[in-house]
Amino acid sequence: MLNSIQQFIQEFPELLRSLFLVAFPVFNPHHKLYFIYTIVFIILILGVYYIRESKSNGFGLRKALAYCFPKSLYTQQSAILDYQCYLINGILAIIVSLTAFFTLSQITSDFVNQFLCGLFGKSEIQVEMTLALKIVYTIFAVLVTDFGVFYAHYLQHKIPALWEFHKAHHLAEGLNPITGFRYHPIDLGLKHSMKIFFLGIYMGIFSYFVNQEITAITIAGLLISSFLFRFIIHLRHSHIWVSFGWHLSHIFQSPAMHHIHHSEKVEHHEKNFGLIFSFWDYMFGTIYVPKVREELTIGLGESDYQNIWQLYYVPFLEAYKRISKSLNRLANARAN
Ligand SMILES: [Zn+2]
Ligand SMILES: [Zn+2]
Repeated sequence: MLNSIQQFIQEFPELLRSLFLVAFPVFNPHHKLYFIYTIVFIILILGVYYIRESKSNGFGLRKALAYCFPKSLYTQQSAILDYQCYLINGILAIIVSLTAFFTLSQITSDFVNQFLCGLFGKSEIQVEMTLALKIVYTIFAVLVTDFGVFYAHYLQHKIPALWEFHKAHHLAEGLNPITGFRYHPIDLGLKHSMKIFFLGIYMGIFSYFVNQEITAITIAGLLISSFLFRFIIHLRHSHIWVSFGWHLSHIFQSPAMHHIHHSEKVEHHEKNFGLIFSFWDYMFGTIYVPKVREELTIGLGESDYQNIWQLYYVPFLEAYKRISKSLNRLANARAN
């Protein structure tokens, strides 16, 4: 069945196929909403429903669906903006080739490698390519890319002009898996560039010392950590609270910790920037591990954009205001 659908999609003209895969990402193996990840998400939330609710309220399909996919959450104005943003970003990604992002790591890697060769001369070390070496390389590649995402996220909150673009994600007033795609393109571009840039530096240093090109362990074209993370990624943007407990949450960022990141409460502001690992937040003093389940209001306490176009152009206007204000302040300080 799936094979024949994929065969059918293959026969589409290129542009039509790309558009089809944006509209129906469950058929796109590279997409976070590919049917395997989506089914796992549904099984997980049904499991949570079964454990938490069915004993007191009884198990019924209608009740389970209402618990897992509350109509009010999925049909609210904020969710409609999430869906529109998802579609527009998907179409933009077709127009703007994403290949450039992926060559950035190679360009950075080559530059760093050449730089080190110029500084210390060509490395004479001959290292045998073993599985152990590949595993070591992969472990650090996972850490470096996760740190890249963390640090980009940290800057998106701390630099006022960048915050204006990241705000589009935080103005969501409810969390559903499509909120995970609600990003301004500038915000998305910065996050991916940072991740790939950090990875490129790491690749350049590593390849210099082992004197050869090396590749990380991947599954389905994804770094192993990204592949495994996709099975729980949608819980980050959902109304289902899943915590990893006090100790494990200091190592891995639980979905509940990302809910805290979206909370309106002042004490939750600018906490839990991490994606996979939590120790970056621990190191930067931004970790917040909830001890018990907390009742949260999602959003910034400001009203959401009135329409989808505001989500795209307002950040440019606001960022421009922020930058001009900073430049004026700088000019005044110099004049005094
Ligand atoms: Zn954020
Ligand atoms: Zn989020």
